[in-house]
Amino acid sequence: MKTPFQILTAVAVASAATASFAAYPEKAITIVVPFAAGGPTDKVARDLAEVLRKNLNNQTVLIENVGGAGGTLGAAKVAKANPDGYTFLLHHIGMATAPALYRNLPYKVLDDFEYLGMVNDVPMTLIGRPSLPANTYPELVKWLEANRGKINLANAGLGAASHLCGLLFQQSLKIDMTTVPYKGTAPAMTDILGSQVDIMCDQTTNTSGQIEAGKVKAYAVTTLQPLSTPALSRLPTLDSQGLKGFNVSIWHGLYAPKGTPKAVVDQVNAALRNALKDPEFIKRQEALGAVVVTDGRLSPVEHKKFVEAEIAKWGPAIKAAGQYAD
Ligand code: ASP
Repeated sequence: MKTPFQILTAVAVASAATASFAAYPEKAITIVVPFAAGGPTDKVARDLAEVLRKNLNNQTVLIENVGGAGGTLGAAKVAKANPDGYTFLLHHIGMATAPALYRNLPYKVLDDFEYLGMVNDVPMTLIGRPSLPANTYPELVKWLEANRGKINLANAGLGAASHLCGLLFQQSLKIDMTTVPYKGTAPAMTDILGSQVDIMCDQTTNTSGQIEAGKVKAYAVTTLQPLSTPALSRLPTLDSQGLKGFNVSIWHGLYAPKGTPKAVVDQVNAALRNALKDPEFIKRQEALGAVVVTDGRLSPVEHKKFVEAEIAKWGPAIKAAGQYAD
């Protein structure tokens, strides 16, 4: 049986914990983006940081770009970070594809993170350098066939969304391309614009502005349905162009290191739910071709289940393609 002193101490400790979390957040929060600044994941994170701040007592939300190795360096950094509620990770589908791609992934996707809720779904687009002679998807296919062995495909490294999309595209066409990895698709886009690399499959959040401005060649979208975003609605789906069933739509979610206090997880999840209702945020995402999550995946439990299902969905396709890293 507990002595009155032990009971009083336990009550004091519990209320100190409540008091400290009631005041959360007391200092700046950092969201790690596992890709270069200025790219699609970074853009989502910076927009999200702004609306999250408003829902977290106006506390500063900083972005730290930790690009490299297809997003796995940034994810590893957060997996090992102090679980004190001040370090988060915003990551995309790479969270679910990395386990199949890396033999020695330095973190366990389902064990080393707290799931905070999902943010958006984002289609992808197939684009090319402005100097590429092909103007339409059928012309692109002819050009790719005529240039076998000489084609460069930009991506953000093994495990990136651009890697997954490019891998499936090469497999579907049965044309091997030389992949050129970058720390994110922002620097890859610079080289597409400068015609240093030929093609890339990247999120609409990075490509729609360049497509609209006519600065890159745009060939197709990767979803089963055409997109309604004005800049992208003229593009055919890969599915309608002979690549039956081609369907790659990526998503972003928010994570914390495993062991982050439940009170913080709940508070950040509530802040995220509110942030995603912000009309400006929704409008901005829509203009870039992204769709803000409003379904059950907003809950940490459903978010984790979704990632688990995505691991099961993409693992076999990736393994069949036989591309691995240590
Ligand atoms: N779009 C990148 C990817 O291919 C990531 C980024 O730069 O945000 O995964």
